[in-house]
Amino acid sequence: MNPCIPLLLLLPAAAAVLAPPAGKVVVVLLGPPGGGKGTQAEFITKKYGLPPISTGELLRAEVEQATPLGRRIQGVMAKGELVSDEIVNALVEQRISQPDAARGFILDGYPRTVEQARFLDTLLPRKGFPRPVVIVLKAPVEAIVSRLASRGRADDKPEVVRERIAVYERQTAPLIEYYTGAGRHDIDGLGTPEEVFARIDRVLAPKAGR
Ligand code: ADP
Repeated sequence: MNPCIPLLLLLPAAAAVLAPPAGKVVVVLLGPPGGGKGTQAEFITKKYGLPPISTGELLRAEVEQATPLGRRIQGVMAKGELVSDEIVNALVEQRISQPDAARGFILDGYPRTVEQARFLDTLLPRKGFPRPVVIVLKAPVEAIVSRLASRGRADDKPEVVRERIAVYERQTAPLIEYYTGAGRHDIDGLGTPEEVFARIDRVLAPKAGR
C-alpha cells in the first residue's frame, strides 16, 4: 500500500488538535469588585447565549448548602478574603463541564489570582476550549464604593469592601499584566451599562462571528 495514504488519513485528526476549536468563545471578565462584571455578563449572555459563570455565585450556593465546606467558605468570604485556589478551581472545572457550557461561557470573578489563571490555561485546552477573550473593565475606586453601597450584600459593608478592594489590588490586578498581549482588551467601565456593553460588543462581535 502507498505509505502516503495512512498519513493523509491522519491529517484531519492532526488539524483538529492543532486548530483552535471552532465556534466556541470563552470570555474572562476582569475588574474590581463592583466594577460592573455581573451586569455586563448579563448583556453578553443575552446577545451571545453564553452562560455566565460567577465564582462568587458558585461559592454563595455552596455556603447556602451549609456543608462543612460551605461553612469554611462563608468565614473567608465574610472577611473579604479570597477562597483557596484549590476549591475555586475545582468548582470552575465542574461548572464548565456542564452541557450548557459546551459552546463557551463567560467567567465573572475568575481567575482572581495568577495561580488560578495558570490553572485556567491548562483547563481550557484540556476541555477543548480556545484561549479566552480577556475583557478588563476599568473603573475608579470612588465609582466602585458607591455602586457597592447601593447593592447591600452581606460582604458589602464598608470595612469588608475596603478589604476586597485591597485584595483586588494585591492579587487580581497582577493578572492584567499576566494577560498582556494575550487577547486582553481594556474597556472603560464608566457610563451606563448599555454604553459599556457597546464597547465590549465591538470586541466580541468579530470573535463570535457576528
Ligand atoms: P465582587 O466581584 O463584587 O467582589 P464576587 O461575587 O465576585 O463579588 O465575590 C465575592 C467573594 O467571593 C470574594 O470577596 C471572595 O471571597 C469570593 N470569591 C469569588 N471569586 C473568587 C475567586 N475566583 N477566588 C477566590 N475567591 C473568590
